[in-house]
Amino acid sequence: SRAWHLVSRPVGWPQPDNFALVEAPLPEPAEGQVLVRNEYLSVDPYMRGRMSAAKSYAAPYELDKPMQGGAVGEVVVSRAEGIAVGDRVLHSGGWREYTAVDARQAVKVDPEAAPLSAYLGVLGMPGLTAYVGLLRVASLKEGDVVFVSGAAGAVGSLVGQLAKLKGASRVVGSAGSDEKVDLLRSEYGFDAAFNYKKGPVKEQLRAAAPDGIDVYFDNVGGEHLEAAIGSLNLGGRIAICGMISTYNDTEPSPGPRNLVRLIQTRGRIEGFLVGDHYHLQPQFVEEVGPWVRSGELKYRETVVEGIENTLEAFLGVLRGDNTGKMVVKL
Ligand code: NDP
Repeated sequence: SRAWHLVSRPVGWPQPDNFALVEAPLPEPAEGQVLVRNEYLSVDPYMRGRMSAAKSYAAPYELDKPMQGGAVGEVVVSRAEGIAVGDRVLHSGGWREYTAVDARQAVKVDPEAAPLSAYLGVLGMPGLTAYVGLLRVASLKEGDVVFVSGAAGAVGSLVGQLAKLKGASRVVGSAGSDEKVDLLRSEYGFDAAFNYKKGPVKEQLRAAAPDGIDVYFDNVGGEHLEAAIGSLNLGGRIAICGMISTYNDTEPSPGPRNLVRLIQTRGRIEGFLVGDHYHLQPQFVEEVGPWVRSGELKYRETVVEGIENTLEAFLGVLRGDNTGKMVVKL
């Protein structure tokens, strides 16, 4: 069975020779473990951080070992109570075809309730990220004007739609292509959207939200964050979810130059990590699941086929090839 290894640590943009797809014997599940034939692998922006040696909230990937990440698949051997052959499970031993997983680290999922890939996206970690960031961290209130960057991605597309469903008065999104911008307006119900590659974010945001914004959900950092601070209204809240525009930087980028505006607005900026909020997963699925099933909340996925294309899929996320959650189908 094949697994992706990190063989050297990328500096700047990851290069193909930082990685190797390695053939190894089928893993043997120990007592208390199950062997999973992975059907979908997740590729996510945070994985770029794990490729670096610097300490962060997730441990760096070890060199010359199988990489990790979200995955869902079918149990083909079970040496654990409570999980049977044929069950589908969500676990964190991705980037490979077969994984031996501790049963305690595997979450059974229902393939009848939702497509398997949805457990990696709209109903999984990115979905919970949108929910927690918007409602808990940014404390969305009815009537708020909301701005979200990375708005056509897995997290961002949910943030915008959730904001509308929860009573935001105006939702503005930014994305990196005209097709994505059209989708935000036509399919996801954003009131305004712009292509950040077509002009300064500051000016485009001003035009899209002439009365300012109350909430900014930041997936991008950099120029977007500074522009959002510049448009922040009194009592505004900024949830720092991610800063994908900086993940391949080799030097730290300068911070926003207009932080003084937080004094004028009594504004608040707060970072968060979805991992601290998994206790809200059941509440999230209970509340958001019905909207997904009814189609009130729409989602897309970009599906790349084949274990050998996992690296390209990951690089595609950093480039913006994806609309909605990027997954690899094995
Ligand atoms: P997405 O599905 O949004 O994919 C990433 C997108 O980022 C790309 O599609 C691309 O879209 C955009 N992008 C890439 N480079 C840039 C750039 N320089 N400037 C602006 N946009 C860029 O990924 P996710 O939804 O999985 O993640 C979104 C963000 O949330 C990331 O920053 C991620 O790290 C963060 N995150 C944080 C979590 C937490 O716990 N705090 C948990 C999960 C995710 P485009 O075509 O629009 O450029």
